[in-house]
Amino acid sequence: MSGVNTEINKFMRDLKQRTPYQTDFHHAVEEVIESVMPWYLDQKDMIDARVLERLTEPDRVISFRVTWQKDNGEFRVNRGWRVQFCNGIGPYKGGLRFHPTVDESVLKFLGFEQIFKNSLTGLPMGGAKGGANFDPKGKSDSEVMRFCHSFMSELRKYIGEDRDVPAGDIGVGPREIGNLFGQYMRMEDRWAGVMTGKGCSFGGSAVREEATGYGCVSFCENVLENLDKKIEGQRISISGSGNVALYAAEKAIARKAKVLTMSDSGGFIYAKDGLDVDQLEFLKDLKQNKRGRIHEMLDRYSDLEFYELKKPWGVETDIAMPCATQNEIEEEDAKDLAKNKVQMIVEGANMPTTTEAAKLLKAESVLHIPGKASNAGGVAVSGLEQTQNALRRGWSREKVDKELKEIMKSIHEKCVDYGKEDGQINYIKGANLAGFKKVAETLLSYGAV
Ligand code: GLU
Repeated sequence: MSGVNTEINKFMRDLKQRTPYQTDFHHAVEEVIESVMPWYLDQKDMIDARVLERLTEPDRVISFRVTWQKDNGEFRVNRGWRVQFCNGIGPYKGGLRFHPTVDESVLKFLGFEQIFKNSLTGLPMGGAKGGANFDPKGKSDSEVMRFCHSFMSELRKYIGEDRDVPAGDIGVGPREIGNLFGQYMRMEDRWAGVMTGKGCSFGGSAVREEATGYGCVSFCENVLENLDKKIEGQRISISGSGNVALYAAEKAIARKAKVLTMSDSGGFIYAKDGLDVDQLEFLKDLKQNKRGRIHEMLDRYSDLEFYELKKPWGVETDIAMPCATQNEIEEEDAKDLAKNKVQMIVEGANMPTTTEAAKLLKAESVLHIPGKASNAGGVAVSGLEQTQNALRRGWSREKVDKELKEIMKSIHEKCVDYGKEDGQINYIKGANLAGFKKVAETLLSYGAV
């Protein structure tokens, strides 16, 4: 093991030297290489072909200026990016994030994660991510539209249905996808399945909006089943109230679990007996149509509790499902979760657990399901949307839902196959190794590219 650790340290030192300050990217790489290094060191042909070095250097990072005008005519300038990380097993695929925290490091970590997540789905998709340091919060619909049109005027040069197919992520939902796709069509003068997450009237797939959240709960059920347990009656703490969180809550309630919490950047709500369908519908309308704040739920439901500027991880629960953003479970939160004897963390967001928190959870034997496995349902249905676009057909809700469940089950099986460790399943190792191996073998077949 010490030889493995030496190699990991050496690799990380070199990576940090060539990518200084990209801490989120370093975190994502370290997690993957910790899982794969013991296997990789036995693959002489891969070491000789520098597969690991190739996989940690994006194919390209495109950055561009996005100029747009506010409603009052003032000019604004933001920076847009597309990180095309690796198209070994299929056209680049991954979402666009519009958020003030977006920078090259964040997009490189997300693009890197996406390579292995997409590989796990079994669908032919490479890894990419993009976005802008633009905050849609507080902007009018027409400002968002002008921003999206300006962003796509540049991005269109680099994407295509067999080249790179973006989708949504934080800050990029149905409104933004509509604006982005419309501008692509206008400028290229052709209809093509060049984005996923589209509205169902213009080539979108049934269940795409729900897919990440539904898939996450479905994965959680697979994990529980493997432990001879059921989801019914489990207490689940969810963070976030965006697309992933809302549909994870919807599916969890439908499967008779108790959803204790949901949150936004202003704090979290706590429902001690679990949210009901009516409350969740109210929250959905508040977030998706009114762009409101979660504390407004209390105006209608006085039995709920609201904890201002707090995260939900101090609540006694069985399952923690972080569905908000990266690094939201820090060391102190992990201590709270362990103290309250949480059974497992099932990640709906991308890399929501910091390295320190993950170490602590491991030491406390809390089962840790990484996002690249449990949140792969979104991109999986994006892959199915690409298939439907290529076929010029739209599938029924039932068909897509069934395929989604099957894909989540197959990802779970891969984690079990590759993650066996001391009579238990290490899902982080399983997901990383299964996702990595397929891409690494592909790169080896290509020779020096
Ligand atoms: N942003 C989502 C993710 O993190 C979906 C990407 C896609 O559908 O291309 O996987």
